[in-house]
Amino acid sequence: MNKNTAVKKGLCGMCRSQCAIEATINDGKIVSVAADPDSPRGYLCPRGKLAPAVIYGRARLLKPLVRTGKKGSGQFREATWDEALDIAAKGFLAVKEKYGPRALASYFGQGVLEATIDKAGDSFFANLGSPNDLDRGSICFNASRIIAPMLTIGMGMDATVPDIEHSEIVFSWGKNSYTDDGPARMYSRIREMQKRGGKLVLIDPRREAMNSKADIWIPLMPGSDGALTLAMLKIIIEEERYDKSIAEDFTLGFDEFRQYLKKQKLSKLLKYCGISEKMLRELTDLFCSTTKASFITFTGVEYQPAAVQATRMIYLLWALTGKLDVEGGMYISKTGLSEHKLYVPDKDNLPLGADKYPVFTAYTKTGLMSDLPDAVLKNDPYPVRGLLMVGGSPMVTFPESRTWAKTYKKLDFMVVLDRYMTEDACYADVILPVSTRYETASVLDLGGMVQLRDPLIEPVGGTMNDIFVLQKLAERMGFGDRLPDTNEKLQRWYLEDDALYRKLRKSDDLTVRREKAPVVYEKYKKGLVRKDGKPGFPTPSGKIEIKSTVLEKYGYKGIPDYRDMRETIKDKDLNKEYPLTMTSGARTMVRIGSFGQNIPEMAAKEAVRPMADISTEDASAYGIKDGERIRVVSPFGSKVFYARITEITPGSIHIPYGGGSRFMSGYWARGNVNDLCSLRYRDYISGFPIIKDIPCRIEKYYRKKN
Ligand code: SF4
Repeated sequence: MNKNTAVKKGLCGMCRSQCAIEATINDGKIVSVAADPDSPRGYLCPRGKLAPAVIYGRARLLKPLVRTGKKGSGQFREATWDEALDIAAKGFLAVKEKYGPRALASYFGQGVLEATIDKAGDSFFANLGSPNDLDRGSICFNASRIIAPMLTIGMGMDATVPDIEHSEIVFSWGKNSYTDDGPARMYSRIREMQKRGGKLVLIDPRREAMNSKADIWIPLMPGSDGALTLAMLKIIIEEERYDKSIAEDFTLGFDEFRQYLKKQKLSKLLKYCGISEKMLRELTDLFCSTTKASFITFTGVEYQPAAVQATRMIYLLWALTGKLDVEGGMYISKTGLSEHKLYVPDKDNLPLGADKYPVFTAYTKTGLMSDLPDAVLKNDPYPVRGLLMVGGSPMVTFPESRTWAKTYKKLDFMVVLDRYMTEDACYADVILPVSTRYETASVLDLGGMVQLRDPLIEPVGGTMNDIFVLQKLAERMGFGDRLPDTNEKLQRWYLEDDALYRKLRKSDDLTVRREKAPVVYEKYKKGLVRKDGKPGFPTPSGKIEIKSTVLEKYGYKGIPDYRDMRETIKDKDLNKEYPLTMTSGARTMVRIGSFGQNIPEMAAKEAVRPMADISTEDASAYGIKDGERIRVVSPFGSKVFYARITEITPGSIHIPYGGGSRFMSGYWARGNVNDLCSLRYRDYISGFPIIKDIPCRIEKYYRKKN
């Protein structure tokens, strides 16, 4: 190691998990990273290893840019920070002047993945009176992590943790910990559970999820999770295999739900699921064999017509069979939870989408990005004309890339903050280059511990922390005092607790660990969950709400239901024309959000082309060979992909997301699976677009001859 080389401890900046790392820094540049051997959070995944490639990538944005060509042309000139910020502020103020504050919208995407920047984003344009500070929660995590569990048991997913160390069975249902988890390393904990003799049950159309390590694979048709939960609940309730004391004392709507289940035909539910009755009964028997069963779930159950209801029913399965807050089940990690107050927006200043998806707004205090195109293109419900995009790329991550292009063209003004060019940024008036998380200060708050994160290196080139850019922009628009402009102010502003800041600064590893509460099971029976100390749950009724009082308040039916995409589209020829069902969105070990194929080193770790996974059965039925080009046609579009024959539910196909930008290599530039989906079809409660239940067909692809 030469005298200019140093090893610094810090946090990985590639995703929100923020694993503890050691960076080797040579002449002020990070040359490599490794897991911190001294930290229990020390971990480095293949994505984290690519940090130097991302920080110093040749295509990294380093100078502010001002558009010179037509929108979408990608022609820009370099500008000074002052000039670019002046233009940006003037542009937004002009929109406000002409159309009013609510014509301004901001979108903070997956590229941000940083709590401090999210805090700035939560109310950026609110400072000017706009209700439209939107974020990636419009298309990710809010349905499964917040809305569904809040409606059912009055707490978010974070308050219910799988007690894996004591579980005999773990159900992986709509989440792939192998590719998704950081230092918590759920995947390793589940593997340990298997070594102890426990079983991993995978409910997923893709056998290869959880690294193909499941003991039992339920090859479900994409989008039919709700049908499976209904079928299991029907058997469990009709055969009286539920916990009667819980049903009687702690639920609301049990009898009504029992009546509803009676009317459900098992044969019809099984048809949606694509599994046999034998498989369903064996799964239900296994599920009922112990209370020591936990689950992991997440966005895999989102993006179907009744996504919130499907996740609600997963919680009901666990609650009604006595697996909630018991050893080995789903442990309630917090006590004295405050009853959640539903947000009531100003009816004369509603966020986008709040009129159609009021429950989303009630729980998230915000609106839906998927409703932006209508506001821009049709003035529905009112015109939006100015957009600030921070670390986001809806053209790659939302359905209908062409609709987004049209939307951006019609905007009066658009500013993008990002680290790399995106397809969306080509339509911006101004692009402002921001730093990676290795170059910026921040705070990591995991509940059990808080840590200050100081920059490992100076900002690369002319870049700045997103927050400081926002502060400078805010200053020009009259609210600069609301945001911090130095690293220290940023950390204090985020913590809102000067005593804690000083304590953190004084500690050797910039960390304060909070004491763990002792483990107490069945807290809801002991009055340890509700704020008022009464037994029960922090829902409006104090019960597990099978029948949701909140849903009823907003005009929905309270009892959970299942909706099938084919019946939602209501086209009688759908089954004939589109006999297969497509799903998308599975992550890889290196990709994060729209970050991936645009970075050559990341692209090199993935398939060279976007593949369409099909089963051996379907490949043989359609005469398709592995690696052959196929056309995938849905009611919303058609695209060519390369077939990959793999273990996947027969009748379904999976296509990875992440293609569709000119800054990606080869076929990835065109292979945008989201063009096979539609912004019109959504989960009826959360407003999340449907990307996991798309009717489609496949055709052999013949290149046109000249
Ligand atoms: S999971 Fe990987 S990318 Fe995410 S913080 Fe940890 S090492 Fe970095």
